[in-house]
Amino acid sequence: MSKNILLLAGDGIGPEIVNEAVKVLDRLNEKMNLNVNYEHDLMGGCAIDAHGVPLTDETIAKARASDGILLGAVGGPKWDTLDRAIRPEKGLLKIRAELDLFSNLRPAILYPQLADASSLKRELVEGLDILIVRELTGGIYFGEPRGIRVLENGERQGYNTLVYNESEIERIGRNAFEIAQKRGKRLCSVEKANVLEVSGLWREVMESLAADYPDVELSHMYVDNAAMQLVRAPKQFDVIVTGNLFGDILSDCAAMLTGSIGMLPSASLNAGGLGMYEPVHGSAPDIANQGIANPLATILSLEMLLRYSLGMADAADAIAKAVGDVLDQGLRTADILPQGVSEGITKVSTSEMGDAVVKALG
Ligand code: NAD
Repeated sequence: MSKNILLLAGDGIGPEIVNEAVKVLDRLNEKMNLNVNYEHDLMGGCAIDAHGVPLTDETIAKARASDGILLGAVGGPKWDTLDRAIRPEKGLLKIRAELDLFSNLRPAILYPQLADASSLKRELVEGLDILIVRELTGGIYFGEPRGIRVLENGERQGYNTLVYNESEIERIGRNAFEIAQKRGKRLCSVEKANVLEVSGLWREVMESLAADYPDVELSHMYVDNAAMQLVRAPKQFDVIVTGNLFGDILSDCAAMLTGSIGMLPSASLNAGGLGMYEPVHGSAPDIANQGIANPLATILSLEMLLRYSLGMADAADAIAKAVGDVLDQGLRTADILPQGVSEGITKVSTSEMGDAVVKALG
């Protein structure tokens, strides 16, 4: 039976890196008869240029009808001065909300070949394997009311609302407990219960869920401490569950522990298993169209898509192995290049990295 993927390459380096993932998919289709079809569509700044909005209803319908979505990245300075309501990032928030992609899985895995590229000492990060489960469709990014208003004294005031319903916390909590059961069975819930009422409720709900998962050890941590612990002793964590805003920040922090944001994939899933897969990084306008972006996060996002949404574990394993092989061969894009002279290391472009992964697939 054939499967259908929707490709939303987006802006900046998006088209360059998605192009490399497509090369990998083409090779797997040929080699393993995967029968995975794909179609391109627009989201982000490119959709604004074409349609005046960052995401059309037609694109949402195509995403809904697909078996999985692979996204590059959206946004860039060209669209930064537009009205907030039609900025590229709105497309991303809208598709997450429309498809109810409430659970964002952001692994931070350190490839042994890249241990020296981490901002921390090798002994602190060697063997690092953290999974951050970030609530993605609630919290302050979606809370109402929001806006900028003029106060009586004429001063302008910006305001947003941090809200979580009990059911939203329970849904992401159960998801995180189930994931922890399949990993190291340790779950750390991160919030700011000493200051925020919403975090107090979050902690209460997590506590009440723990009884249903007796094999998982639940702990709690304030977000400021979690940020500190991530750079002090990151290997203490297995699975972290947290809200939208805190997860956004902590997962980027965890990303840097692994050496490069260009290596990290992510998945956003709904209750039915439909998922959108994307690199953790943004559209990197500073390096767009130079052929130097690292495509591996996007290729590894394809790997997650094949594994979690299409049930093609063999093909996913083949990608994971091929990525390990090219790193073993010493191939590095600029972002993961070690400083100074390193024997056996070759600097490669975006397309050379993609071609090397295709070659390693055999
Ligand atoms: P960014 O992740 O795009 O870039 C941060 C730094 O990392 C830059 O120096 C960039 O060159 C580098 N980098 C990122 N990806 C890389 C790769 N694959 N290979 C090599 N280097 C890489 O974050 P930013 O600069 O804060 O944001 C740029 C734009 O991306 C903004 O418009 C922002 O809104 C958007 N953005 C989009 C997403 C998304 O689409 N999911 C996420 C974050 C930011």
